[in-house]
This record gives sequence, structure tokens and C-alpha cells, in this order.
Amino acid sequence: MLTISFSRYPVTIFFCVTLFSSNISYAEQVVVYSSRIEKLIKPMFDAFTKNTGIQVKFVTDKAGVLIARLKAEGKNTHADMLITTDAGNLWLAAREGLLEPIESETLEANIPAYLRDPQKQWFGLSVRARTIVYNTHKVKPADLSTYEDLANLKWMGRLCLRTSKKVYNQSLVAMMIAEHGETRSEQVVRGWVANLATDPLSNDTKAMEFVAAGKCDVTIVNSYYYGRLIKKNPSLPLAIFWPNQAGSGVHVNISGAGITKNARNKHAAIMLLEFLSSKKAQNLFADVNMEYPANPKIKPDSAVIAWGSFKQNQMNVVAAGELQTEAVKLMDRAGYR
Ligand code: FE
Repeated sequence: MLTISFSRYPVTIFFCVTLFSSNISYAEQVVVYSSRIEKLIKPMFDAFTKNTGIQVKFVTDKAGVLIARLKAEGKNTHADMLITTDAGNLWLAAREGLLEPIESETLEANIPAYLRDPQKQWFGLSVRARTIVYNTHKVKPADLSTYEDLANLKWMGRLCLRTSKKVYNQSLVAMMIAEHGETRSEQVVRGWVANLATDPLSNDTKAMEFVAAGKCDVTIVNSYYYGRLIKKNPSLPLAIFWPNQAGSGVHVNISGAGITKNARNKHAAIMLLEFLSSKKAQNLFADVNMEYPANPKIKPDSAVIAWGSFKQNQMNVVAAGELQTEAVKLMDRAGYR
């Protein structure tokens, strides 16, 4: 419950606010459950509050924990919005009946169809490109072409990968299944495993550090991790390569949001969601983590633009959820740990 008590004359203040800004409702607030960490969401929430007067309260935790919490709380939940850092978890929340379809011309105009749920239960707010990073001393860009090519013999003992337990790789493989089918996808994943220089690594940054140290030559990571690492250590012999440009494009995932089924502040939550898709918030949302705006009318941060433009795979990211179980099983069969 939002309490405003900054004066001995609360009635007068309320009167002034109502008089001069009819759009503002101080009674409204939005409660957000977010697996996107505080420093990557708070700037947008602050901007929203500044624009509308509506307060945003939030809780951050792992997506699995937040989804379980929403389920357990049921009708008693205080959460109006769920934010996650990938489509798979939003898809899961929708499948569990935790999200509400939203009709919004603003969201449909701002967010391309492939970055939102066809059932309108969630919307992508930033694009995360999963791409190839290579050691510039050991690999020429001309040696690289596709994710699938990294399964070929020429990469034997030269590949580092993050663990298959992370949803990012599950989504990558799920999208591959959607595109190529299971048989071809399994061949590719088996090829990757055969080419590994080391056991799968715990995170994207570690995988790039191995590449930089010459323990392997190439890896697959989200581009913002590359951005963070290079910002810290610009002399690392690492570069980004955009794969599959002659074919379907770079695998992209989203950080996105949906409104909860039992939202108490649905109106304000929709306002927040629409605000997050707008020009003002899109730059904040993407730039704070060196991601790509989901709204194609907005340019990324200049540091991100410097990595070059590329074609995104425009297959709907919903496949990352729908085929996640198949992807996990396939990676397990292929020995990708
Ligand atoms: Fe991440």
C-alpha cells in the first residue's frame, strides 16, 4: 500500500495534484517480480514514476523462483508484472496460466511480432543476440560462418561452450530444432561436443576468458557479455562475429515482460509495459546492459553500434519455450553437459 505523508496538509496536496495533472493517480502503483537485476530495471522504473507519478515496487530473484512464487501465491499475489531475461521463462509462466493476454495497439506497434507472444501474454523489451566470439590472433573472420559450422572437424579441440544448463543455450538449441528439426540439430550439438577444448564452462564471460587466454579459439555468447568484458579489458584479443548471415540470421532472445493473471493494478501495469516499449524507456532498457532495443525504431548504444549491424533470426522466440524440453533432452543425448 502506498502511503503519502509529507505534509500536515495532505488534503490540500491531494487537491492540487488532482487539479493540475488529471492523468496522475497517486493511488496507483505497480508491483514487479523481476529476474532482471535491480540495476538493469530501476532506471526505467524511476523514469516511469517521474512521468506518471505511479510508484513501482519490485522484487528480484531467479525466474524459476519467481514463477514458483506466483504459482504458490495464486489470487493472493501482489505482483502485477513478471520480467524475465529470456523468452523460455515467459513462455513457461504463460503455460502455467500466470499471465494475462494484453490487447494494446501501442505494444503491437512498438514490438515486432517475432519478439512477442502470439497469444499476447508477454512482450520482448530488449533483444539479446547470442553470437560467436573468437580469438583475433588465431581465427580470421573468413574462417567463420555459422553456429552449425562449429560442429565441423576443422574446429576440433578449438571450441569452448557455456554449460547446457543455462537457459540461453537451451533456447539456442530449441530455435535450432525449430529450424532444422531434431536429427540435424543433434548432429550439430554432437559435433560441438566433439570439438570442445574443455569441459563446458559456467558462464559466458569465463568462456571468453578461455578464448582470450588461447585455451580455445571460439565460443558462443550473448553480445552484452562481450561488451562488459571488453570495456573492462580493451586489449583482449577478442572480436564478435555475426553468424548465419547468409541464412536465417543471428539467434536472438529477449528480456521481456507480461502482466500477471491476478494483477491488482492492471491499468497501471499496462501503462508501465507500454512505457517500457516506448522510445524514452527503450534506450534506457537496452543501453544499460548493452543490449538491442526491441523497438526497431530505436538505435542501440554507440558502443553496441560499433560491433556492426546484422540480420536477426526472425523466427518467433516463442519456439524457445515450446521446444525447450526437447532441446534439454537432445543436449543430454548428445553428451553436452
Ligand atoms: Fe545474461
